[in-house]
Amino acid sequence: MTDTPLIEARGLARYYGSHCAVQGISLELRPGEVLGLLGPNGAGKSTTLSMISGNLAPSAGHIRINGIDLLDDPRGAKRHLGYLPEHPPLYRDLTVDEFLHYAARLHSIPRKAVNEAVDLAKSRTGLEDAGRALIGVLSKGFQQRVGIAQAIVHQPAVIILDEPTVGLDPLQIREIRDLIRELCHEHGVILSTHILAEVQATCHRVMIINRGHTVFTDTLQHLADRRPSTALKVGFAS
Ligand code: ATP
Repeated sequence: MTDTPLIEARGLARYYGSHCAVQGISLELRPGEVLGLLGPNGAGKSTTLSMISGNLAPSAGHIRINGIDLLDDPRGAKRHLGYLPEHPPLYRDLTVDEFLHYAARLHSIPRKAVNEAVDLAKSRTGLEDAGRALIGVLSKGFQQRVGIAQAIVHQPAVIILDEPTVGLDPLQIREIRDLIRELCHEHGVILSTHILAEVQATCHRVMIINRGHTVFTDTLQHLADRRPSTALKVGFAS
């Protein structure tokens, strides 16, 4: 790993009206790393990830993606990002290939390079044989693979996954976690979850947030050392 951060966020805040959802959040993501954003429901995880992915304007703070200021140059910065939201829109009547071609075009991949990009995204997410399947008939685990494939189709430096295993069965959860561990060799990953075991299975470092504030940021080893007091403060699921 090098020391150049793929993502550098400083002093992020977001208000909804007078309600402060996130305050003073700063984080860094380094190449080859999976950073977990851990916190209970309502902690501010989705709000933070929406700001970092450029889908929600911060009330305060700065975000740099691969050295590009997201607020100054959103198009340039977003080229380096892939994003799977917590509730992705499901294009049930499209085939996997149709949807991934659509996603590739949205990411401005030139027409003649789309087939190759889609094939690569499918092969890296275990969807080689699913191209002609309608998304609506796939299992939830495979639908989530499709969501991850669209997030990596333009080969971004960073992928942001918001609660990627919610609603999956135990086997599907294990498979998606394994996939994330493979993908991090080529993309830095930020993943949000409210499950401690998810962080332990997938992440190199963790940032715990509660009520919109950072409670803890460090390696998993340091989390294990401090877990009783940290867990008490936050009350996350294990
Ligand atoms: P969950 O795991 O339940 O999605 P979270 O950690 O992702 O939780 P957020 O969805 O970021 O948390 O919500 C943080 C706070 O902001 C909560 O108090 C929530 O009610 C509030 N909030 C989120 N979105 C909005 C919105 N569009 N309008 C008003 N308040 C919002």
